[in-house]
Amino acid sequence: MSKGALLIISGPSGAGKSTVCRQAALRGDVYLSISATTRRKRPGESEADYDFLSVEEFERLIALEAFLEYANVHGNYYGTLKAPVFESLDKGRSVFLEIDVQGGAQVRQSYEGAIRVFMLPPSKAALKERLLGRGTETAAEFEKRMENAIAEIAQSKDYDYLIVNDTIEETVQMLLAVTKASEQRVKNHLDFIETFL
Ligand code: 5GP
Repeated sequence: MSKGALLIISGPSGAGKSTVCRQAALRGDVYLSISATTRRKRPGESEADYDFLSVEEFERLIALEAFLEYANVHGNYYGTLKAPVFESLDKGRSVFLEIDVQGGAQVRQSYEGAIRVFMLPPSKAALKERLLGRGTETAAEFEKRMENAIAEIAQSKDYDYLIVNDTIEETVQMLLAVTKASEQRVKNHLDFIETFL
């Protein structure tokens, strides 16, 4: 039985990760991991966006070592539970983890075969435009977002693949191509090879 590939997708907010991951997961039959968080649900969000947990519940799961990775971002916990990810990989279905570089580094340490993909908008000007485009922030909040984005980009240099999100369609195709290539790595097919020996 072949194993699925584990892909970590990171990039600054405004790079378009969520839209691309959702579409590629649907088309490529990839399991898009749902993170657990202790932050409050925003209007319009549902259990399909996050697994919303209490701090007590989250900390109980940390103690049980149930997380593949977790982080505290802006005072809230965010994390990826091991069980659904490994169940999917074992069934041969690949997984997308849309997580920040900090989480990506943790996963890479505990799961050596994880492939890390970094997504960027086509230029710094486009990044600025996309962050401004949300139009919900004050100037100070925008500056903070821009600063965070640049700090995250600076940590991308040891990622495996870079995908520039110019048009959604091309970016989805590119992510699916990287997924296919990752699935074909020999280490995902050792059981199959054994059947010939
Ligand atoms: P938001 O609250 O806007 O949905 O997400 C805030 C930040 O948390 C984003 O930078 C997002 O990438 C990060 N995040 C979401 N889920 C996870 C997760 O499972 N693990 C880690 N480490 N970060 C996450």
